[in-house]
Amino acid sequence: MITLPRYVSLTAGHAEGLDDLTAFDNALHDAGIADLNLIKVSSIVPQGSRVVPMRSFPVGSLVPTVYARACSDRPGETVVAAVGMGLSPDGRGVLMEYHGVGTEAEAEAIVRRRVEAAFAMRGLELHEYHVVVAEHVVRKCGCAVAAAVLWGDELEERTDDWLTERWTPDARFAVRVREAIFSMRSRYQQIDIVDTFQFGRMLWLDGTVQTSEADHWAYHEMLVHVPMFTHPNPKRVLIVGGGDGGALYHVLQHPVEEAVMVEIDREVVRAARSYLTAIHGRAFDDPRARLVYEDAFTYLAQTQPRFDVVIMDTTDPVGPAMRLFTEDFYALVRRNLADDGIVSAQSGSPWIQPEVVQRNWYAMEPHFAKRALYLGHVPTYPGGLWAFALATPQGELYPPLKTLRARFAARKLRTNYYTPQGHEAAFVLPPFVQRLLV
Ligand code: SAM
Repeated sequence: MITLPRYVSLTAGHAEGLDDLTAFDNALHDAGIADLNLIKVSSIVPQGSRVVPMRSFPVGSLVPTVYARACSDRPGETVVAAVGMGLSPDGRGVLMEYHGVGTEAEAEAIVRRRVEAAFAMRGLELHEYHVVVAEHVVRKCGCAVAAAVLWGDELEERTDDWLTERWTPDARFAVRVREAIFSMRSRYQQIDIVDTFQFGRMLWLDGTVQTSEADHWAYHEMLVHVPMFTHPNPKRVLIVGGGDGGALYHVLQHPVEEAVMVEIDREVVRAARSYLTAIHGRAFDDPRARLVYEDAFTYLAQTQPRFDVVIMDTTDPVGPAMRLFTEDFYALVRRNLADDGIVSAQSGSPWIQPEVVQRNWYAMEPHFAKRALYLGHVPTYPGGLWAFALATPQGELYPPLKTLRARFAARKLRTNYYTPQGHEAAFVLPPFVQRLLV
């Protein structure tokens, strides 16, 4: 039985929002929430602004991460807003809205992800979930209401500042936040950058750790340098995803002619540019870098340049990255790769996501005659032990140590994790990982 909130507080982001709140009023009534307490506050969120998440939850205030920047480019347009309500067992909850020009189903799917991410990040159980849909009109100024809700009888202020990633229903990873730096919801995902006591600045997407200042190099050096030193002379490199710029930075340490980065979400790059310089070292501005903001699947389906190395630095196979862990996608990668080209792909945690390791491994199988799995340690990733896949149609996957040493010396890289010996050793798999591949 769902315990409906006794009262609901809505806050409006702009004077225009007052009318829009009424639309929610009806929708919430329809959903069975009778006692609606509308706090009609205008100008909390100036039009077009992004809200920095708050680290405590005072009653009736905006809830971190559930702020919706809901501006339409098309004045006067009618959009569908899906409103998702999540309730925690103790009556805490969030309400989120999504204005989309897409279908109702798409808007609902997005809002569901947001609610889950908002709960997971704060270690709250999502107990009940409901969606109501309201027809909504974006006013001629193009600004719709941004609404966030906190409810409960006696909501005490939350003072802890922990961010939590849900690894499985039974295991979580948490970090204490020093400062919330940036938060926004892009068209594709919830983007958060926080400064943490343990790992420095971290990028989170949809409640999932992407990278941190403390250990980004462990991940990026293994993802990038292993294929780049495996290839004798990589000149043209493609990075799939990689919005934080860390992979790009490491690719550009090699004498490449061009590094193309195909990233679906321009906002991730924008945020990284502003707040994650320690990770990308301004690599975006290197004249050899070319940024393409597009779904990598669409991009590769349209072009046929021959890359020497393709590096898959994508989010885990959920949302827009789902299509990237498929045979169809690797067929496109193959088409864009030179015959002796090398592809590397982040492949998940053998401990926590063995299915991701396997899914990626088998998706590559039909298109690459030679494949190998290798491992690295990334403390902020689930389980700490991380799998990467390496593949080639006709190239050499295991250059001798002597060759790796010579290439490493010739390119004069300064590294924190990668060494030629470590490169060779990374392919030695414990039996439990080997067994995932048979
Ligand atoms: N190191 C990270 C990890 O393993 O979690 C990945 C980091 S990087 C930030 C991942 C990027 O992949 C994100 O910025 C995301 O927007 C991008 N991405 C997801 N799906 C994509 C797609 N279909 N095409 C291009 N980029 C995509």
